[in-house]
Amino acid sequence: MTEALLRGLVIRSQSGFYTVSTQTGIITCKLRGRLKRQRRSGDILAVGDRVLVSGSGVNEGMIEEIEPRLKMFSRLSPQPQGEYQQILIANPDQVVLVFSCAEPSPHLNMLDRFLVIAEKAEIPPLIVVNKVDLLTFEVVQDLFSPYKTLDYPLIYTSSRTRRGIDELRDRLENKISMFTGPSGVGKSSLLNAIQPGLGLAAREVSTITSKGKHTTVVRELFSLLGGGWVADTPGLKALALWDIEAEELDAYFPELRLLVDQCQFNDCTHHHEPGCAIIKAVEVGEIHPARYASYLRIRFNED
Ligand code: GDP
Ligand code: ZN
Repeated sequence: MTEALLRGLVIRSQSGFYTVSTQTGIITCKLRGRLKRQRRSGDILAVGDRVLVSGSGVNEGMIEEIEPRLKMFSRLSPQPQGEYQQILIANPDQVVLVFSCAEPSPHLNMLDRFLVIAEKAEIPPLIVVNKVDLLTFEVVQDLFSPYKTLDYPLIYTSSRTRRGIDELRDRLENKISMFTGPSGVGKSSLLNAIQPGLGLAAREVSTITSKGKHTTVVRELFSLLGGGWVADTPGLKALALWDIEAEELDAYFPELRLLVDQCQFNDCTHHHEPGCAIIKAVEVGEIHPARYASYLRIRFNED
């Protein structure tokens, strides 16, 4: 085969057709048969994957190679023939966790769960606190104080007053970002504020997704005018914490991770044990009690 292969990014996946963005434009592709014959216990290809494409003609591309996937968000979905690993997005550079400071009021235990999922997947989170127009700024900062001393980037936005919109847009530039968060917090409004029409487009896709069967799920990355891509994936909750062992959970809370070596017992659960460095750190205010409470709730399955 002498034809040169084009490198591209999979930006849409629907029923066996993949839209690939390449230097010379957008090509609709199918997957070469020999790639399909590989293991079938999960998605072979997902949005965010980098591929090599032949047949650069009009709309008749063929995906010849899939580059190694570095990271992903995936979930196990039970199917008649066994568990199936569904890939929500491949190679995201960051996950944007959108919460509102009011209407609805923030469910910080859910934010902590999302942060654990991001830590496990090794995908940097960006926390966005939206609707800051609804409360005084002191109250907003107070609500999110458990995150003040952590190293996670956090920005305050209002799609209504446009506060923080430029900063958010800057943080998305030239990256692949996955937006998620509870419904009603303003994800679509924020996307629209960043770029007119973006929220609406993303909403349409996610509506199809929620109604569709697993086999007809549509996923899409939307291009940003300044470079970069965003995907809207409501319900990261569905990812749950399926592949996280209880014993490794403390590693996904950075402020706990730092101290676990100092616990007296190396199988310490940080719940009641004597000589626990975590309990001590909570007592002296080095670890925020709300974060510790989230750890305990996840660890002991209290939801
Ligand atoms: P999504 O479900 O997360 O996509 O949320 P939407 O973008 O649909 O917004 C839900 C509701 O919150 C809508 O009524 C919006 O008008 C409202 N909303 C979105 N952003 C803001 C904001 O910054 N301030 C206020 N006060 N309301 C907002
Ligand atoms: Zn301990």
